[in-house]
Amino acid sequence: MPDKSTSSKPDTVAAPETLAKSSKIYPIVKYGDPVLEKPGLPVKKFDGDIEQLVDDMFASMYAAQGVGLAAPQIGLSLRLTVIDVTGGKNPEAKIVLANPEIIHAEGEVREEEGCLSIPGFRGYVIRPQFVTVKAQNAKGESYEIRGENLLARAFCHEIDHLNGVLFLQHLSMLKRDLIKRKIKKLRKLGEW
Ligand SMILES: [Zn+2]
Repeated sequence: MPDKSTSSKPDTVAAPETLAKSSKIYPIVKYGDPVLEKPGLPVKKFDGDIEQLVDDMFASMYAAQGVGLAAPQIGLSLRLTVIDVTGGKNPEAKIVLANPEIIHAEGEVREEEGCLSIPGFRGYVIRPQFVTVKAQNAKGESYEIRGENLLARAFCHEIDHLNGVLFLQHLSMLKRDLIKRKIKKLRKLGEW
């Protein structure tokens, strides 16, 4: 009896090289993993690996329906984050921040905030209304970008991640402890 696996006839047609590039969807690291609470290392080498990682981070963020994702949230302690406050609707809205620094902040907005690493919990956090960030793109080129409201909030939230800071740290102690207790319970139940 012939072995099917040795058959030379392919039963699927390979996609052309240009369409073959696929993105990896990373699982999102949840609160409790120490990688979320330590500062990331600077991105030093800008090569194809970083461009692939950035692609994968966007794909992972869209899959999780987030508007921002920082490298520590996929278990990589790196100063790299991707943001898209349009949720993938506008390709021009895709922002890559490598080694970002806030160089100007202005105003205050108090708004509810959540985090892909702390699913199911939200809290009010005061953030600047306008934020200007200096960063490098996926090719290592330096640039500046200014954000307002939700985008300014995303800049602050994601840059916090690169410093090992979670939005919980901006909540009142009462609210923070409440959330931590609930997460502890979920963990005991094996639901976290
Ligand atoms: Zn977050």
